[in-house]
Amino acid sequence: MNTQELDKKYVLQTYGRGDVEFVSGNNATLTDVNGKKYIDFTSGIGVVSVGHANKRVNEALCEQLANITHISNLYHIAPQAKAAEAVVEASGYDMACFFGNSGAEANEGAIKIARKHGERDGEIKRYKIITLKHSFHGRTITTVKATGQEAMHNYFGPFPDGFVYADTIDAIESLLDDHTAAVMIELIQGEGGVELQDKTKVQALEKLLKSKQIPLIVDEVQTGAYRTGEFTASQLYGITPEIITLAKGVGGGVPIGIVMTSLKNVLSAGDHGSTFGGNYLSTRAVVSVVEILSELKSSGALEKTSDYFNQKLEKFYENNKNIFTQKVGVGMMCGLRVVDADTLNKIMSNAKDNRVMVLKAGRNTLRFLPPLTITKEEIDEGLKALSLAVSTL
Ligand code: PLP
Repeated sequence: MNTQELDKKYVLQTYGRGDVEFVSGNNATLTDVNGKKYIDFTSGIGVVSVGHANKRVNEALCEQLANITHISNLYHIAPQAKAAEAVVEASGYDMACFFGNSGAEANEGAIKIARKHGERDGEIKRYKIITLKHSFHGRTITTVKATGQEAMHNYFGPFPDGFVYADTIDAIESLLDDHTAAVMIELIQGEGGVELQDKTKVQALEKLLKSKQIPLIVDEVQTGAYRTGEFTASQLYGITPEIITLAKGVGGGVPIGIVMTSLKNVLSAGDHGSTFGGNYLSTRAVVSVVEILSELKSSGALEKTSDYFNQKLEKFYENNKNIFTQKVGVGMMCGLRVVDADTLNKIMSNAKDNRVMVLKAGRNTLRFLPPLTITKEEIDEGLKALSLAVSTL
C-alpha cells in the first residue's frame, strides 16, 4: 500500500489532507515524492522557523541523539536549563519556564498556574478565565473550551467550567469580577484570521488587570519565536504579561510547549509535570533555534527578510485587488483578505497546483507564515507561482 492507502486504512481521518506527499525540504523549498519542488509559505503552520533541514539544528540534534535523549524530569537536564535561559533572556522578562510538548499543553499549564494563583491569593476562589471570541487555544478538552469559537464546543462536553468569552478587548472590563483568575489573549489571532489587537487597548487592559492583580496570559504559540519581529509579540506591544505560552516555531520542528511566567512560586513540586516535556532532544532544539534566530535578529537579517517579504506581498496584493480586499499582519505573520470563501478555496487548490504552499485562516484569509530564513529567491519564486495561481481563477 502507498502512503495514502495506509493513511486511509490505519490513521483516524481527523484532517482534510491535500493529496501531496513531501519527502524532503531545504529551507523554504519542499520536494514531493515525484521530485517536484514547491515553495513553502507555511513553515508547517509556523513551526519550521529556521527552515526545513536546518544544518545547525540537525547537527545539534544528531550530537544529542548520540549521547542522551531522555531520562525524565526526576533529574537535572542541561539543555532544558539552557533552553529556559535562552527563551527568558530573549524575552527580556523576569520569568521562569515549564516545558511540555505542544501549544495546547503550554496553555493548560498557563491555566493551571492562573487558577492556583487565584485560589491561593485572596479569600474568594478565583477560577474564571476570560478569553476572546474567535480565539484559538488548542484541542484538549480544556483548551477547546478556552477557545472562543462556539462551533468547537459542539461535542466533547461536559467541559471544565469557568470560561467566559469577550467579544473584543474593550468588552473584557465588564466581564471582570471577584472570581476572575486570568485573561488569556492572542495579540494577533492566527487561526482566527490574522487579526491584530490594538496596541493602545492592549496596554490599557494590561494596566487595568495589574491594578486588580489579575494575571494576563498571552498565548504566543503562533506569534512567538520572532514571528512578529520580536522574540514575543508581547515585547512588540510593550507589555509585561504574567504568563506567556510558546510552542511551534521555538522548537523548529521538534515538538515543544513552554509556559513562561513571572509567577515563579505558584506551582510546587508535584502540582504539574510531563513525562516527555523538556527532554534532552526537544530542549536542545530550542537552544539551537533561539540561538540562530537571535543572531538573525541582532544582525538585522531578520528585519531585511521581513521587509522584503512584505514589500513583495504588498505588490502582489496591489496587482490583484479584484481578489484581495486587504493586506494584514505584522512581521512574517501575514494575511490577505479574499473577497469570498469560495475564491479562497480555489486559490488554495490552484496554489498547490502551481507549487506554492499557503494557509487558510478564519473564513476568508489567505495566510502566510514562511520560515524566517526564507531567501529572496524563494520569496520571488513563491509569489510568481501564486500570481499564476490567481491568474487562472
Ligand atoms: N494557541 C495558538 C495561538 C495556536 O495557533 C495553536 C495552534 O495552532 C495552539 C494554541 C495549539 O497548539 P498545538 O497544536 O501545538 O497544541
